Order: sequence, then C-alpha cells, then structure tokens
Amino acid sequence: MSRRSSEMHLTTRIKNSKQMIRLVRPQELTASDLIYPIFIREDGKKFEIPSMKGQYYLSLADAVKVCRQTVGLGIPAVMIFGVLKKKDADGSAALRKNGFHSKIFRRLKKEFGDDLVLISNVCLCDYTAEEFCVYSEKGRVLNEKTAEMLGKIGLVHAEAGADVIAPAAMCDGQVRQIRCALDKEGFDDISVMTYVKTDSCLFEPFFEAMTLSKTPRSGVDSSKFRTDVINEKMFMQKVDLDISEGADFVIVKPALTNLDHILRVKQKYPTIPIAAYQVSGEYALIKLLGEHAHVDENRLVMETLNSIKRAGADMILTYYALEAAKHISKQ
Ligand SMILES: [Zn+2]
Repeated sequence: MSRRSSEMHLTTRIKNSKQMIRLVRPQELTASDLIYPIFIREDGKKFEIPSMKGQYYLSLADAVKVCRQTVGLGIPAVMIFGVLKKKDADGSAALRKNGFHSKIFRRLKKEFGDDLVLISNVCLCDYTAEEFCVYSEKGRVLNEKTAEMLGKIGLVHAEAGADVIAPAAMCDGQVRQIRCALDKEGFDDISVMTYVKTDSCLFEPFFEAMTLSKTPRSGVDSSKFRTDVINEKMFMQKVDLDISEGADFVIVKPALTNLDHILRVKQKYPTIPIAAYQVSGEYALIKLLGEHAHVDENRLVMETLNSIKRAGADMILTYYALEAAKHISKQ
C-alpha cells in the first residue's frame, strides 16, 4: 500500500527526535569553550558584587577554591581581575614584582600548573587613582605612554605566571609593546589576547565593580579609545591593527550587541581564535529577566551563549561559565 503524499520537510522530520536534533547540530557549546572572569580583592574581603548579583569578590584563598571548581567542570581558563586596596596617580603598584597581581598569578600557577590557563587583564584602570584605562592630559589620550606602561605590566604578569596577556586599554601600539616586552625577556611563548570593544553602556556594572572611588569618573571620554557602536569599519580597523601588531587572539566585547562583528572577524581572519565577552551588562540583563519577567534564566543563558558561538566565537568569557558548564554536563 502506497503512503499518502506528504508536505513534510526535512527539518520537521528531524524535530521528531531529540537525539536527531543533537545529531545534526553543526556545533555545540562545550565547557572547553568557556572562560570564567573572576574578581580577586587585595583586602581579602568576600562579598556579593552589588552591580552583579550572584557574582562575588574573592580573596586569593577563595579564588583557589573557585578555580578548583572551574577546573573540575572542564573549563580551561580564567580571566583575572585584581582589585587593589590602593591606587595612585601613576599606577606605580602595577610594576611591583611582589604586587598583588603577581601574588595571584604565582599562587594560581603553583596550585594548577597547566590545568588552568591564566589570562591576565592588563589595563591602567586597575592601578591608577583616576581609574581610567589610559593616561591622559587635559582630556587628551597619551597613547605612547599608555602602550609602554601596558607592555611593562604585561611582562610583570608573565614573570609571575600568567599564560596569556589581555590588554584592555584599546590604545594603538598596546599589542606591539606587550609583544616586544615579552619577547625581549624570553617570554615568546606567552600569548597576547587583545580586546576590541565598542563604546557600550553594557560595561557599567563592571566599572561599578572595579571602581574604588565613590565619585563618578571624569576626564577622558571613553569614546576616544573605544570604537563607535554604529561604525563597523572602525571596529575592523582596530582588529586589523591589533592583528598586525601580533595579537594571537581577539576578544570582541560586548557580545550581544556585536554578533555581526564576531562573524565579520571570523570571516576575515578564519585562522585567528576569536573570543567573545558576555559582559557585566549582558549578565545583569539576563538576571533581571529571570527575576522580573518570567524568563527561564538558564534557558536564556544557553540561548545567548549558543548564539555567540554560532556567530563564530571559538571561546566565550561569561560570568555564567560555571552554571553553563553544569548545564552542559547534564545534557
Ligand atoms: Zn581599563
């Protein structure tokens, strides 16, 4: 007996079976795609970050425990943010060989060796009293001075055990200065992972988390060193520059509003690993929707992370790394 003719198409047939859906996926997010950003405080206080509910400042001892959990979940890397007790005009603490950041890298490298990739966020705002990413004078960015300082800081972190140096100041020459400083001292095996950021308001909860002073920041307008959110050519010019200076990886930041940039970088540089940073504002947005809009937080986390992966990211920095890895392990 012949079957009736049918209008059913391939996608509908596939959707009949959960396992078939999994089988035909071209790619799937795994724990090995994730990087967990952590905030470690020099004063050793552990408490919830007010602007990022569910994320905590850690003492160095707590950070060891969190990193152990991270490794246990199969996540290969952490991004380290050190929160100093005190900052000064020049950011002199940055170059102390026994400074807090160096202590972090030495301790974590000793504890985890090659089991965990330690990525060092390198930026002036972590050290200077005015808490800007760049040095400035009368509202003008001092590009050379900033890039040179970032090179020196990158070397200090590499000497202490950082595996990857991630300059975040977005100034021209930052990658070249870091690469030169590392190579000159025999750290040619240390990678440089450069941030390319649009001038987004989604960074605000992070600034709140990293800022010591209670007064609002003033001075250099951030649009002077980040790229225009509307101009995709400007974004690609910065990517081109940093790759030409020797960047091994590119971080696109934020992720949600730059999915097209992720795809664009992937298409232009298929051999360069691309990271995307699901930033603090994206994290807060998902939390809020989960708490106030009847959205399933877990589903939204996985949906957003998978969309970032689908856009072309090889790895994703996310404050949801631990939750996502747990979810993936249960699939
Ligand atoms: Zn900064």
